[in-house]
Amino acid sequence: MSSNKTMNIAIIGAGPSGIAVGRELLHQGITNFTIFEKEPAAGGTWQIHSYPGLACDVWAHSYTFSYLPNPNWSASFVPQNEIKEYLQDCVGKLGLTSHMRYNTRITRAIFGDKHWQLEFENGEPQQFDIVINAMGNQHTAAYPNLKGMETFQGASWHSTEWNHDVDLTDKKVIVVGSAAAAVQVVPELAKVVDQLFVLQRTANWIMPRRRKIYSDRQRKLFNKFPILMKALRAGQGLLMSGIEKGVELGHKRMDMFENMGKKYIKDVIEDEALQQALTPKTRFGCKRALVSDDFYQALNKDNVTLIAAGAAEIVATGLITSDGQKLEADVIVYCTGYKLMDFDRIEVLGAAGKNLADTMAHSPEAFKGIATPQFPNYFFAIGPNGLALSVSYFITAETNAECIVRVVKELQASGKAVVDVKQQLCDEYNQWMMGEFSQFSWGEASCTSYYSTADGHHPFIYPGGFKRFKQERKDVSLQDFELS
Ligand SMILES: Cc1cc2nc3c(=O)[nH]c(=O)nc-3n(C[C@H](O)[C@H](O)[C@H](O)COP(=O)(O)OP(=O)(O)OC[C@H]3O[C@@H](n4cnc5c(N)ncnc54)[C@H](O)[C@@H]3O)c2cc1C
Repeated sequence: MSSNKTMNIAIIGAGPSGIAVGRELLHQGITNFTIFEKEPAAGGTWQIHSYPGLACDVWAHSYTFSYLPNPNWSASFVPQNEIKEYLQDCVGKLGLTSHMRYNTRITRAIFGDKHWQLEFENGEPQQFDIVINAMGNQHTAAYPNLKGMETFQGASWHSTEWNHDVDLTDKKVIVVGSAAAAVQVVPELAKVVDQLFVLQRTANWIMPRRRKIYSDRQRKLFNKFPILMKALRAGQGLLMSGIEKGVELGHKRMDMFENMGKKYIKDVIEDEALQQALTPKTRFGCKRALVSDDFYQALNKDNVTLIAAGAAEIVATGLITSDGQKLEADVIVYCTGYKLMDFDRIEVLGAAGKNLADTMAHSPEAFKGIATPQFPNYFFAIGPNGLALSVSYFITAETNAECIVRVVKELQASGKAVVDVKQQLCDEYNQWMMGEFSQFSWGEASCTSYYSTADGHHPFIYPGGFKRFKQERKDVSLQDFELS
């Protein structure tokens, strides 16, 4: 390939990370790309999900691209529809509209002869030089594998696939799960249902969210003086960076967070047995810490009962818990999370037909979260261990996007056609990470959470602070890759 031929780039997914990659390509002067999105519009998670109470659990002014602040947020934490609208607005404002192909699901990507061939659910295959996977890591609903699920006579669904056709007013409802989705769904359901059972297998650390509504005057000020948003975001960034030490075993900040969590339970929950049941037995950060202003409050209501047990079996009229209680219900809602990092969503065949899902099945590994050996010219917007915990998701997405696009640009300028990350570098990097995990509550052997695989791997989060995360990506260059 000559250095003046522009490469043809495909991005899969138009959520925050796909938009970040698109913007970065334009920012670095690359225009020959297409963003494929299976849904009818951009927004990713925020376009797809619509369960009651869905909102961001990060301050809204931080849950935005750094280059497109939003002065019009209604509150310090905002509901799903506002984030969806913000992201869809970003597409136009960032000049990405003509690059979008909606209603276009990729089914397969095959590498051969220095190109990727992408196959679609509908339409003819197309060739690309580079593929960037921005498909998100929390996408596929994970249902529990319970005996008798098909026998339930009422309605049931997963929080991801909310059934808005069923009116829950005065119904008896069971929510299976008590984590991120449940803490948002439960307060909303508690307002309308006759009776609500919330099944909690393990208690989570929950901090008060302290949501503030922004007045018209505040929004006007944010519009007039964008520096105010910048200052707010900087302050929030400082507070978020506190999480870095809060999840480090032996650090006093972990005790501080746990004491805050325990105090919140005592302040809100009246019943002592319920206080006990809600007090986590795991260290702060082993499971994703949550924020809420109304979950504990909802549990105080007469029509809501927390059951400190898991689901064992589904029967025609309800559910039997792991401690033998039989609960009757009209509706069962599974707030049971996602299949994380499910690389089998599309078939990706790299060099010599190597299958990505098989490669990632036991030990999802990548070099600095962006590329894995033998998948030439294939990048992850947020790959294994490619997510920094102590900054907003948007900052992680921007940082990874900058790194990927720089490598693509350098490749294009080099006159070569293919980059394939060096196996040895990837192995050394992952070897180093294996030694890091045990410093963190989420990475120690005794913590079982969705952050870990059954094989004891911890592929979800980057083991360390954002400063090093950013530097690592800055250091990535063509020298880390085999070129051909
Ligand atoms: C319900 C929920 C709530 C969340 N809340 C928060 C929060 O409050 N704070 C926070 O920091 N993080 C949160 N997250 C995590 C994360 O911030 C969001 O999921 C974020 O939207 C991820 O961005 P993304 O672009 O990487 O992936 P996604 O938003 O998942 O976007 C991926 C896109 O790829 C598309 N796609 C997938 N497969 C294909 C295919 N084969 N062909 C074409 N297109 C495809 C999807 O349709 C989707 O639009 C949440 C996640 C979920 C699921």
